[in-house]
Formats: sequence, C-alpha cells, structure tokens
Amino acid sequence: MGKYEAVIGLEVHAELSTATKLFCGCPTTFGAEPNTQTCPVCLGLPGVLPVLNELAVEYAVKAGLALNCKIAGFSRFDRKNYFYPDLPKAYQISQYDLPLAAGGYLEIGPLETPRRIGVTRVHLEEDAGKLVHEGPGTLGRFSLVDCNRTGVPLIEIVSEPDIRSPEEAREYLDNLKNLLEYVEVSDCRMEQGSLRCDANVSIRPAGTEELGTRTEIKNLNSFRAVLKALQYEITRQEELVESGFEVEQETRAWDEARDVTVPLRGKEDAHDYRYFPDPDLVPMALEAGWVERVRCSLPELPRDKKKRFVEGYGLPAYDAEVLTGSQAMADYFERAAQAYKDPKVVSNWVMGELLKYLKAEGLDIAGSPVGPEALREMLGLVDTGTISGKMAKGVFEEMCKTGKSAAMIVKESGLVQITDEIELAAVVDRVVKENPGVVQDYLGGKDKALGYLVGQVMKLTKGKANPQLVNDILQGRLR
Ligand code: ADP
Ligand code: MG
Ligand code: ZN
Repeated sequence: MGKYEAVIGLEVHAELSTATKLFCGCPTTFGAEPNTQTCPVCLGLPGVLPVLNELAVEYAVKAGLALNCKIAGFSRFDRKNYFYPDLPKAYQISQYDLPLAAGGYLEIGPLETPRRIGVTRVHLEEDAGKLVHEGPGTLGRFSLVDCNRTGVPLIEIVSEPDIRSPEEAREYLDNLKNLLEYVEVSDCRMEQGSLRCDANVSIRPAGTEELGTRTEIKNLNSFRAVLKALQYEITRQEELVESGFEVEQETRAWDEARDVTVPLRGKEDAHDYRYFPDPDLVPMALEAGWVERVRCSLPELPRDKKKRFVEGYGLPAYDAEVLTGSQAMADYFERAAQAYKDPKVVSNWVMGELLKYLKAEGLDIAGSPVGPEALREMLGLVDTGTISGKMAKGVFEEMCKTGKSAAMIVKESGLVQITDEIELAAVVDRVVKENPGVVQDYLGGKDKALGYLVGQVMKLTKGKANPQLVNDILQGRLR
C-alpha cells in the first residue's frame, strides 16, 4: 500500500427532467406501462425526422455553466452506430467532436482548501431503451424491450482523470448530484436510473505522471457500488501488477451480489462506432446573448451557498454542508433563521429534531408538517420562558404530529412553564422533606445530589418547572 496511486475518471449520465423526449413529443415520466410512451420517431421507424427539444439544450447548457465549462458557440449531433436490441435505430444520436460544453471543473473538499476535478465535456444525447429479462437463468429464457426510455434526453458529463481515490469519486458524485438538483435539470434518482455512472480506473507507481492502462466499470447503480467497485478494482490491479502481470484495457461489470468486478468485453475505441454528423439535424448555433440569459437564470450554487452559510450565519462547516444538501432544505433554514437571534439554534433544530422526524416518516423537507415560521415561533416561546428547552421537544413532536402551532399546543395542554416562585417553593419543600438522605449528602459536600433533587421537582411538575428557578430555590433552602 502507498506504492501505487489510483487514477480515476468518471462518466456520468444524467437524465434531464424535460417533460418530453429529445427529438419527439413523447412524455418522459418514469414507471409507465412498457411501450406506452413511444412514437414512430423514438421507435426509429423508417422515414421519420427528429426535431430538437429546445428546453433540453437549455438544461444541458445550464449544467455546463454550473460546471464552469465554456459553452460552444457552434455544436452539432453525431450518430454513434452500434447494434443492440434496446436501440431500435441501431445508432444513438449523441455528440462527438463538438459537444455543447467543455473545459470546466467541479470543486470537492473543504471550502478553504478545495480540489478542482476537471470536467472534460458535457454533451447532450438520447437514451436507449430498457431490456427486461424474463424467465429463469442469469439472462432469462427471453428478453423484452421497453422503448419508453428510448429518446429521453441525457447529458453525459466526463471528468478528467483527476480523481485519486474511491472516496474522492464518491464526493465528486455527491457534489455533482447536488449541483444538478440545484440547477433543476435532473432529479438524479439513481434508483430510477436517472443518474448513472461509469468509472474508469488505473494505477501508477506513486510519484509518477504517466497514466496506466485503465479499465472501465459499468453497471454501477448506487454511490455505494461506485465506492466498492473502485476499491475492489484498485486492489485487483495492484495484485496483478505486483505478481508481474499487466492490466488489460477492458470494460468490466460490477457484480452487486458478489461484490466483485467481472470482465464484460474488450474496450471499444471511438472508431468502432463510426461516428458521423447526423444529416437529419442541423447544427446548433448558440447566441452569446441567449447563453448569458441562461447564465443569469442560474440559482446560487451549493458551494457558494455553503460559504455564505459559514460566513454570513457563523455556522460550522458541517452544519452548512448538511443544510445546503438541497435547495429546499437551505430555503427552510433561511426562512426559519430570518430575524431570529441565533442561527446556530435554528440549525440545531433543523438538523436534529426536524430531520429526525422527517426521516422516520419518510418525508422530505418540502412535505414537512412544521413550516419554518412555525419553528421560529416555537423557539420564541423558549426564549420568553413560556416553555423550557426540555418541553420544547415535546411541543415540537406534537407540532409535527398535528400540524398545530406551538402556541396552540401550549394553550390546549396547559404546558406553560411554571415560573411562579411560590408554587415551585411548595414542590421544593415536599421534595426536601421526602428525601432527607439526599439532602444530607448535599449538605455533606456532594454537589451532585442537588441535581437529583432538581430532577424530582421536574418529575412532580411533569417537566413544567423552570429548572433554573428550581435550582435557585433549592440552593436557598439548603444553605
Ligand atoms: P472513452 O470515451 O473511450 O471511454 P475517454 O477518453 O472519453 O474514453 O475517457 C473516458 C474517461 O476515462 C474519462 O473520465 C477519463 O478521465 C478517464 N480516463 C482516461 N484515461 C484514464 C486512465 N488512464 N486512468 C483512469 N481514467 C482514465
Ligand atoms: Mg466513454
Ligand atoms: Zn416518441
């Protein structure tokens, strides 16, 4: 270990969230009955002509800009020719030498010391269909073709071989997913196949520059799979080289069940695909003014937001990371923290009680039964002493369950904190009387005994006593 350095480059396909396909008007919704979202164009019947979906171009450009790429003024589509049953035309409309965007980067790592992973290119292409294997055996007795996905717009994002470890690859993917969700071009659901990743990996002696022979791993359908597959593949390559063999350039598949990569096929080269410009589609000329308008429509991007959360709200980097995990979460936090004195308190509640509840209920923040204003109002009740910090948890739980406001819950259940000294003094007297032993301990110098007595008062008042006040009264009594 430490003798070799891993070199990794990722190719990510993200399905764009346009309502219709790239070259026809068929819908793109996930989960429809097989072959119900098809037409002669996406089925590749003879004589049909593709018509470009302008919104897909806009989304691809958005992604390119968010990835700090240069947007091409002139771009075009090419045919990538290959035969496979999920590809009715026997070619995929993709982009080859003139992609929409190129030469960008994505930052990973801490805000103060970021690492830039180069983004070679972002291009637009159509998706292929899906094969469903039926019957017994590994591949089944027969396979069915579902063309609903055929022609759905994808962007392919190719990274430079700048990634140095499986963990970095994971972080790159995390950040990329986050970014694409922020700019709202893809919903990035890996489990629905709307985000897919191929990982290229090679090793080289530590401290050298020359790239080693790589393998490409396909069939990675979760972030965990990417991590595991890369770890496995790096070890496999190291062991090969250590025992005097060479790594062969090939395409391998991740076998989820066995946690290993297996050979799939020898690596194809670009010339195998006989790329050529698609004669059915005119080239795209992107006006600078249009590109600028798209740039202006970009929201604040995740890392900028994270920086602002740290500097503007004084939050720890960890909090900022969690809170900027999605645009919706960040908005929730900002609305709750608005005009509230202590952003860290808001952050604690959002990251703690709120996320815990949402997770348990399988909700996302948009479906939170407690809105940001309602949370802020509840915190206000703690600040004014109406309820204690401890009672607040119960009140919050009740807010989640019922959707009622904190004030309403407090009023209905008489949960108001007891701050009346005379009322509390009576309870304190009772506790002192009933616990002579503990009182002796305390008077004998055991400071901890006081905590027990406070606890007893809290118990008798069902948590409603103001603990500070109880403390003061007790200390007054036991002098
Ligand atoms: P292809 O399109 O044939 O897969 P590319 O040149 O487009 O080949 O590279 C695909 C990916 O492989 C890119 O992400 C790139 O960074 C990565 N890559 C290229 N060479 C290596 C290498 N020697 N080791 C690891 N990754 C590599
Ligand atoms: Mg490739
Ligand atoms: Zn269609």
